[in-house]
Amino acid sequence: MFVADLINWETRSWNFTLLHELFNTEDIKVIKTIPIRHLVCQDRMVRHYTKNGSYTVKSGYQIAKAIADMEEGVPSTSGNPNKIWNWLWHLRVPPKVQTFVWRCIHGALPTFSNLMRKRTNLEPGCRRCGTTIETPEHALRDCQWASFLWAASPLRIVPDENLKRGTIADWINSIMDTKDQDLHDMFVMILWIAWHARNKFVYQNHQIDHKTCLDIAMHRLSEFHSTVKDGAKISLDRVAVFSEKWIPPMEGFVKINCDTSIRENIGTGTGAIIRDNSGKALTAAHRLRSEELEVDVAEAFACLDGLLLAKDAGYSKVILETDNTTIYFKLKKMDRDFSYLGGIISDILDLFCSFEMVIPSCVKRSGNFAAHHLARNAFVLFSFESVVGEIPNHVERLLREKIS
Ligand SMILES: [Zn+2]
Repeated sequence: MFVADLINWETRSWNFTLLHELFNTEDIKVIKTIPIRHLVCQDRMVRHYTKNGSYTVKSGYQIAKAIADMEEGVPSTSGNPNKIWNWLWHLRVPPKVQTFVWRCIHGALPTFSNLMRKRTNLEPGCRRCGTTIETPEHALRDCQWASFLWAASPLRIVPDENLKRGTIADWINSIMDTKDQDLHDMFVMILWIAWHARNKFVYQNHQIDHKTCLDIAMHRLSEFHSTVKDGAKISLDRVAVFSEKWIPPMEGFVKINCDTSIRENIGTGTGAIIRDNSGKALTAAHRLRSEELEVDVAEAFACLDGLLLAKDAGYSKVILETDNTTIYFKLKKMDRDFSYLGGIISDILDLFCSFEMVIPSCVKRSGNFAAHHLARNAFVLFSFESVVGEIPNHVERLLREKIS
């Protein structure tokens, strides 16, 4: 048996009779959240552990770490791994510094003590002071050079005996608990510059003085903070202001408004309505799906239904309007990724080719009321096939009220 055997291809929904014969309730609940694409496409490999199905370094780390933890049978550091992970990725420091901190936490820094474990002929002593074995704690905190750096830094840290008993991971953990993000960023930058200076000294015989080290660390930090701020500004600018009211399409175009309504344990209703530039409703459709879809996926299905409605009715220049900004931006940017949502977006984008012109548009919920009422109406009519053409009386009435 294949997955395809579990699908009712006429209605493009799961065959629930069959699902109930084969699976338990818990599994059926999960299967119900999987949308079925409109168009048949080639199978392909996608990445399971990210939202868009593409590989990211972050997800790679998470998996590598989970495997390492599983193999060792113990959490690799003190503290809660999720908490550390979360903290690490919220640091506002360059990615290479994050990677460095991750290695510190996992005791994976190639100090001479660590290298000696792999190559027995290596001398494990500290190359700076020559007084003891170079552990990560010594290189980054306890060596005289490092303790000067911390004392001279804006954080003015002078490690006490208690701190000196712990590992670097313990130290990072105690900093993590302070809840001061500026301090966190500064702390890891100094930790990183201490390691950077150590490498310069050990491998290039180049001594960087404390002041220069701290200047580099603070400069890199403020540089990074300003790019993060600019980035935030750019993304804020991208949040366009959408109209609260429904605006008629330009002449020669029709506008399709699409919306969805999801009810637990029942399914997903979608609604679409097409209107001309006088505001007159030309046709509408609504449909109930037995799948309980995620909001964005459901909204994408509503757009797909709307576009199919326009295609069947023979309109060639359309404005496709949703009140869901995620879907709007994905359609505008033609963002096809490997997620379930990406699949439905791909179906919609492929359908664009059946039209002379399709313009994606976004409106606030208040301007999308007619499509919303249609989506809710899907539960009243309870039809798993698209109900096309008829515009329900209460929607007609609403349209008249809003226009007058
Ligand atoms: Zn030393």
